[in-house]
Amino acid sequence: MTNIDQKLLEILKPVKDPELRYSIVKLGMVSSLSRQNGIVNLSLKLPLPNSPSESELKNEIRSALSELEGVTGVEISTTLMSDEERLDLANKIHGRPTTGGAAGGSGSNVDFQPAQIDEKGNILETDPLRRAVIEILATIDDPEINKPLTELGMVKALGIESGNVGVQILLTVPGCPLKDKITADITNGLKTLDWVENVAVDFDVMTEQQRQRVAEMVGGAEPDAWKGRKPASAGEYAKRIIVVASGKGGVGKSTTTTNLAFALAEQGYEVGILDADVYGFSIPRMSGVHGRPRVNNEMMEPIRKGRVQVMSMGYFVDEDAAVIWRGPLLHKAINQFITDVLWEKMDFLFIDLPPGTGDVTLTLATALPQAEMLIVTTPQPVATHVAGRVARLAERTKLKLLGVVENMSYLEINGEKDRIFGEGGARDLSKKLGIPLLGEIPLDKKIRERSDEGRPIVTDINLPSALIYKQISQELLALAPVDISA
Ligand code: ADP
Repeated sequence: MTNIDQKLLEILKPVKDPELRYSIVKLGMVSSLSRQNGIVNLSLKLPLPNSPSESELKNEIRSALSELEGVTGVEISTTLMSDEERLDLANKIHGRPTTGGAAGGSGSNVDFQPAQIDEKGNILETDPLRRAVIEILATIDDPEINKPLTELGMVKALGIESGNVGVQILLTVPGCPLKDKITADITNGLKTLDWVENVAVDFDVMTEQQRQRVAEMVGGAEPDAWKGRKPASAGEYAKRIIVVASGKGGVGKSTTTTNLAFALAEQGYEVGILDADVYGFSIPRMSGVHGRPRVNNEMMEPIRKGRVQVMSMGYFVDEDAAVIWRGPLLHKAINQFITDVLWEKMDFLFIDLPPGTGDVTLTLATALPQAEMLIVTTPQPVATHVAGRVARLAERTKLKLLGVVENMSYLEINGEKDRIFGEGGARDLSKKLGIPLLGEIPLDKKIRERSDEGRPIVTDINLPSALIYKQISQELLALAPVDISA
């Protein structure tokens, strides 16, 4: 960059091209800038000839430079940009890095500058690259609070150097368990910008004052939906209630519940999942539906992702904390989940039961006598054993039995189905109970991986197991049809 007086350049930074509305310095429109005996000489590169705003721009430049002590005159000459320079300028406006050419280059390290965002989350950045980054950050929600990072004042600073972007995020609490999720969301989001190569996310913690602001925002005004609402049974919100039961733990009951719920949501149904597995709640993690439910007038608002609403004990206690429920307390907690959740109307409510034939199921069945039961089992030929338990459960609860789903039925290797856990368990069980077998789900590493990542496999139509869940959801619809328009 020859013949650029940096002090003068600083003065010109806030001057924007009236048409392009970006700083002329950032756009590389200043090709030389010097001062001699009080006279400033500026050579301006214009993207297009005969611009109607040229004289306006010159006036703004003159008035900015005249502010400087000792400046007695400003001489401005203009040249036209080359095609290459014009392309560079277009790239800058669209938030892509350029081959250079602009005055005001920076060093090799990412240089963090505070993010220019106001209290309401409006982006005040004028630099096109920084603006592009913040516009992406504005689409990313804090996974717990479910509001954009920019609105919550969580974006502290940014630094950009070529394709390297550094973002500093302020957490509401230190050691926030969702750091990894925030990092992944930001990285994935920013990589959608075609010029971003590397993303580094740093964390810091909010001051008490900043935290207070977030608390006020989250506590916020009472949403309209709450007004006049009284505790009501979940049965009033759902056209059909399906409790998902299993004879024992670890057979994939929660995985099946989550995937069937998302399969129906993908087909346009409004779906809720009540995670009544109060000891081993895993639905928030498996479904990727995170958040802190708002509680108001003793009612809890479920967390929503698309057409799926979720309520879980996991939203109130740490997943790693051992929850020990004494009988009466458990009964109360479950009843609160049935009556005090402010669901929005839904076609299906899935209830993920704890394994076995415990009190929770009985409490639920008493409160929701219209519920129907879906049974998840593995293929081991111990049907009589499981059948006995489930039959007892059905008898105690008086709930209608809908069907059986077999999970971990086989491992498919090179097109061959290896039935490593044996065969026939679910078929025998369904025969014994006189209900249909809805389908067989393979043992598939991707099912587990996607569950761990909070992206139910059924949302990825390219994967074979997704199709199987879809088919089972069709079987379920045939058994328990709902009128979506009603
Ligand atoms: P449950 O609710 O019956 O206790 P989970 O749904 O929590 O069982 O499943 C237990 C574990 O098995 C989880 O890690 C889950 O990801 C995995 N899993 C469930 N079904 C399958 C399957 N078909 N293939 C591979 N892993 C599965």
